[in-house]
Amino acid sequence: MRTWKWMFTAALLVSVSAFAQQPAESQPSAQPDAAATAPATSSPAPATADAATATTDSSSPASSPAAPAPEVQAGPAQAQPSSAPAPVPSTMPQPTTMDQVVDRFIEREHGLMKALGNRTPVVETYLQDLSADPQLGPVPSGDHYFLGRMDMGVSVDRKDYLKDDDKGMETRLMGGFHKLFKVQYQPMGFSWMVYADRADFDRSHYEFHYIRREFLGDVRCLVFDVTPKKNSGRGRFLGRIWVEDQEYNIVRLNGTYVPAPRNSYFFHMDSWRLNLIPGYWVPAYIYSEEGDFSAGVKNKLAFKAQTRIWGYDLKKGDKDDELTQIRVDSVKDETTTTQDASPLQAEREWQQQAEDNVIERLTRAGLLAPEGDVDHILQTVVNNLEVTNNIDLPRPVRTRVLLTAPLETFSVGNTIVISRGLIDVLPDEASLAAVLAHELAHIVLGHNLGSKYAFNDRMLFSDDATYSNLGFKHIPEEEAAADKKAIELLSNSPYAQKLDNVGLFLKSLQAHTTQLNALLTTHLGNPLAQNGSLTRLTALETKGPALDNTKLDQVAALPLGGRIKINPWSDTAEMVKTAPVAITSARDKMPFEVTPFYPRLARYGAATPSAAPTTAAASAPTGN
Ligand SMILES: [Zn+2]
Repeated sequence: MRTWKWMFTAALLVSVSAFAQQPAESQPSAQPDAAATAPATSSPAPATADAATATTDSSSPASSPAAPAPEVQAGPAQAQPSSAPAPVPSTMPQPTTMDQVVDRFIEREHGLMKALGNRTPVVETYLQDLSADPQLGPVPSGDHYFLGRMDMGVSVDRKDYLKDDDKGMETRLMGGFHKLFKVQYQPMGFSWMVYADRADFDRSHYEFHYIRREFLGDVRCLVFDVTPKKNSGRGRFLGRIWVEDQEYNIVRLNGTYVPAPRNSYFFHMDSWRLNLIPGYWVPAYIYSEEGDFSAGVKNKLAFKAQTRIWGYDLKKGDKDDELTQIRVDSVKDETTTTQDASPLQAEREWQQQAEDNVIERLTRAGLLAPEGDVDHILQTVVNNLEVTNNIDLPRPVRTRVLLTAPLETFSVGNTIVISRGLIDVLPDEASLAAVLAHELAHIVLGHNLGSKYAFNDRMLFSDDATYSNLGFKHIPEEEAAADKKAIELLSNSPYAQKLDNVGLFLKSLQAHTTQLNALLTTHLGNPLAQNGSLTRLTALETKGPALDNTKLDQVAALPLGGRIKINPWSDTAEMVKTAPVAITSARDKMPFEVTPFYPRLARYGAATPSAAPTTAAASAPTGN
């Protein structure tokens, strides 16, 4: 019975936004407008004791804000990060005038650039081209994906992880747009606004106008408009900044660059920072959006893009570093007996070694989250499948979160890996169980691919070559066998009654395959869909009702960013805590789409507030 109890805990967490959706990482905190939609909340049923029902279908609002949120708290109130730069207090006196505040945040901004100068975080940009749909408004018509490491030093440099695509990169950069936009439509372009101005953020280049005070999350900020002075040069920041009122660090930038160079164009960006280490707010999220769908507009450029930055604490990854860090310890014999390993034991040890090597290498490349709370939820679901199918493996199955957006799963040895993007878009626990069941099936059927990675020389590659050195794609026969076994596992499990939801998710996936090619392009595992058709669990696609956008209670897939958030300093994955927001039109569903970021800002070390957010939307009565 313990198993079931666990499952319900997981169920509540995982299904919390099956019906209710939220714009992004968190709630708008300074937008009174949000209140306008809140009272319309369709009073979700209070969490019932029968949690299984709550997760059964997305038509019964499973949102249970009052449900006890188990230990998924891992906010800023964590142990001091090991290799964080030492905070450098300001040499200036505490400001008493706005002029002094300006001097202070200029000083802090230069201090941040210096502190992060030797960092090479991972930068991921996922972009969706938009076209107008009469019913749904702007919808994705194509997409692009960029992943690389950014050198935060003076010379801005970016190394791409997607080596195989180098050839096609030139065309992909242009994204089908007119040549006009070639220069700025680059991966790097989307991360420009990590700083307002790398070189000349000072009074001789900019005017600063104080606007007002405003709270962003728990943090009181001073808001300034920033305009470049006349003839101060090209590519200057124009927009607004939010400065926290204790140490006067910039926590948010919103705007663009001016004047645009001839024949090109600067995007608009909204850039957020998080106080993850003492004394500094590190760039974490950047949202970009262009496009005007009002009547009569000729400009065809329309897209929205999320850029996420993480892996600040990763090692630089130069050659010497690689070698000193590589795992060289051999298999340790921890048994007290002096017996030799049997052939089967040796085979298992070998696989374990390969598995450990790969997991460690992916973690070090900033692609895999360290073991954490999300894994407990995933493992609970895997455990439900195992227990109800009497699966007894010699080693326990582990799970880990791939930090990237493309929808993929793979397994190496007894570890199942699932991407952040996929967890985000899955509508409910049954759908999560379905994608995990496929990988569990590979493990049960002994489809082990990774054993060649037990040779440590195969781990000797630079981080940006990860995708060309590691791969876990099965042959079609094994894929088919795993799907068959997965359906068997599911039909014996507590999820057997909920496969209609899985069918709905797969239908939605099928409907988006051509538009979301980049999101469905896997880098390590087998794709869920290929060449415009679904390839995973196709037998389940016929389950459940037909897709119907007009049914507001039918949520087949969620937007990206609604479930998992990454700590950009430590790379840990955490469950997002959001309050339910009612869907009031088909446009609110936004399956697989990117949305703006609204992280809930909090100071480093501040006690993480309780699960109840204090936003305008959330403070409206929702439950009863
Ligand atoms: Zn597979």
